[in-house]
Amino acid sequence: MHRSKRSFAALFAGGLSFALLLVLAQPASTQVRFNGGKAYEYARAFAALGPRWPTGPGHLKAEAFIRNQFKHDQLEDDTFVANTPIGPVTMHNFIVRFPGKKDGVIVLGTHYETNYPLRNINFVGANDGAATTGLLMAIADQLRSKKLEGYSVWLVFFDGEEAIQHWSASDSTYGSRHLAAKWGGNGTLGRIKAFMLADMIGYKDLDIQRETRSTGWLVDLVRQAAKKFGYEHYFFQTEEPVEDDHLPFVQRGVPSIDVIDLDYGPNNSYHHTAQDTMDKVSARSLSVDGDVFMETMRLINQR
Ligand SMILES: [Zn+2]
Repeated sequence: MHRSKRSFAALFAGGLSFALLLVLAQPASTQVRFNGGKAYEYARAFAALGPRWPTGPGHLKAEAFIRNQFKHDQLEDDTFVANTPIGPVTMHNFIVRFPGKKDGVIVLGTHYETNYPLRNINFVGANDGAATTGLLMAIADQLRSKKLEGYSVWLVFFDGEEAIQHWSASDSTYGSRHLAAKWGGNGTLGRIKAFMLADMIGYKDLDIQRETRSTGWLVDLVRQAAKKFGYEHYFFQTEEPVEDDHLPFVQRGVPSIDVIDLDYGPNNSYHHTAQDTMDKVSARSLSVDGDVFMETMRLINQR
């Protein structure tokens, strides 16, 4: 993802209210249902594959890991060729479908690959890619075990989110641009009730921003879900626009939210550096994410 130009004043103001809310909101936050430990374990194993940049050996391992994880599920390998600054690159989105009884689909997404420009610094993207890949795998474990009463849930593991060279509209979000265009062409987009994107929300000091191009009612449902668990201090204390895999869907009118924490380390110093390692990720944060994603899906079904 890419931070759009924005001042840090809002982040500072948010920090103060964050501290206050932390004190006020603690007593309600006792009910934890989601197994963040399992999500963390998936993320740890995924990050341990090493850097996953497109065309690299670790990317092949990541593909194999995902195929193996969902070998008994409805898994689609959405292969396409992206035109990139280094030439044509074969990429793979993975889509896992869990059928529901209601007509319509909720899509949960993450990207799983790491940055090509960072291929020589052992960048494993523990928080940036691996954590949310683990989160979706642990969510899949919950969806798999029961017949879904509501909408179908599709998990999408996007390839090519990161820029190959320098972030721009044409050098970024290859997988989501491809899939949104494909689903726009075959009528699938019209079936999608909501698209929730997860990115960089495994960080142990969780502070999720309100991404300004996300759909208002979906933001409200996430806020409502967070409140149920006493998690509201983790969510939307500040706001900023972010360019990410949700935008190709937003642009096509799909209700979408980017659930993202772009405040990663002191002055964002862990972002896109070799510092993005599993010691920065916590099972607790992944529990918060999982609880809120599951509850938001319940609210979408009631809507
Ligand atoms: Zn990134």
